[in-house]
Amino acid sequence: MSFDSLGLSAELLRAVAEEGYTEPTPVQAQAIPVVLQGKDILAGAQTGTGKTAGFTLPLLQLLNQHAQGKGHRAVRALVLTPTRELAAQVAESVETYGRHLPLKSTVIFGGVKINPQIEKLRHGVDILVATPGRLLDHVQQKTLDLSKVEILVLDEADRMLDMGFIHDIRKILALLPQNRQNLLFSATYSSEIKTLADKLLDNPVLIEVARRNTAAETVQQMVYSVDRERKRELLSHLIGSKNWKQVLVFTRTKHGANRLAQQLEKDGLTASAIHGNKSQGARTRALAGFKQGEVRVLVATDIAARGLDIDQLPHVVNFELPNVAEDYVHRIGRTGRAGNEGEAVSLVCVDENGLLRDIERLLKREITKEVLPGYEPDPRIKAEPIQNGRGGDRNSRGRGRQQPAQRPRSDSQKPRVNRAGRSDRVRAEGSAEKSNGNTRVAQSGNTRVVQEKRTHPKTSASTTAAPPSANKRRRPSQRRERASLLGG
Ligand code: AMP
Repeated sequence: MSFDSLGLSAELLRAVAEEGYTEPTPVQAQAIPVVLQGKDILAGAQTGTGKTAGFTLPLLQLLNQHAQGKGHRAVRALVLTPTRELAAQVAESVETYGRHLPLKSTVIFGGVKINPQIEKLRHGVDILVATPGRLLDHVQQKTLDLSKVEILVLDEADRMLDMGFIHDIRKILALLPQNRQNLLFSATYSSEIKTLADKLLDNPVLIEVARRNTAAETVQQMVYSVDRERKRELLSHLIGSKNWKQVLVFTRTKHGANRLAQQLEKDGLTASAIHGNKSQGARTRALAGFKQGEVRVLVATDIAARGLDIDQLPHVVNFELPNVAEDYVHRIGRTGRAGNEGEAVSLVCVDENGLLRDIERLLKREITKEVLPGYEPDPRIKAEPIQNGRGGDRNSRGRGRQQPAQRPRSDSQKPRVNRAGRSDRVRAEGSAEKSNGNTRVAQSGNTRVVQEKRTHPKTSASTTAAPPSANKRRRPSQRRERASLLGG
């Protein structure tokens, strides 16, 4: 299928061609014609599927069909995202795809000065991409009018709800005109998402693209068995001996990320850490340095990495395995994107064998294991509880709570929506990913079903084959990290 058959205007087709896209991804093929018809959609699509263009392209076209007259431009399309990084990425896509159209857009999120945002809003924009917290700050300061919104997009709605944005969303919905088009994107269909979808969507068309719960075929995975105290040494050795130029390394904790980045620097490798304790500016700088090749190793926590958009990342290293097996899939999904070869290496010590088994169970396959000569694990070293919370500090090893890694989480353990004020609210994390615009998303052929049913809103979501929502087990420190990574 080509983009030409989707009903997009010449300006948009030109922008798409300039990005090097030759054919629409499954979610684009399904969503674009439906959105162009003005219908609501409920789309089950993860990041990496091309969902951003799936809503941005038709949204731009619809707005351009009814261009605003002279005078102040009102916000006519609002895209809400859970994180700053995702907001920034979506806004970039809006700019990219809309570059041949006379529409204006901007992005607002927390962690940066509000005044420049006020200034941009004052000049008038057609499309606003925002995180909920900062959006409400603007509403409170009366620097934003949402009364003319025609199209609302909730991107990664499950993540927004998962971490307690529901109140902000409700407040925002109350500010929008009743009569509007709603596009809801969510990787999972929890009961909360169904409730929201039932309230929000009118006869939605259901679109479902298969979950990326199996690791991309193009990612070569392997495990190096190594002692926990020798991981850093092995990592430096691998980076140096294999001449890896750009490596994303995952640690379990923020403190672990900091410490590892410092140690790698001592080993003569340029390294930065990125996590929720860093300011927005520091995170942006670290990411920019990494993308430009000035920083060879970026050490990240799962949560911080969710919003990272790095093209064609060749190497991902799990310095420590994640506590939640599904995070492994997210992590290695950072490489091997868009049909490119990628390599995911995990450094696994004796403590992590249970976590490795969990991952293999999820992948339904074994991962090749190797021992590098000179780094053979010492059989005398016994497994220890995996350090939780305060940074995986090896010095405090053993004092930490035993990781409840294998237990599925019950509903009562899920992060609770905080009904208190905004300031102490736990915010959702983001998981947007991007790959090189010159190549296709490695997702084609994964479409399971397009359920183009016209259903009653009350029954719509429940008629969709619901992928099970991930039973994530998050620690309080992870939730705090999320909070600091989010829109604010
Ligand atoms: P998303 O899931 O929206 O974050 O998109 C993932 C990546 O796929 C982004 O880097 C896009 O630039 C890229 N992309 C989106 N649509 C296409 C397409 N039709 N062909 C190739 N790449 C695409």
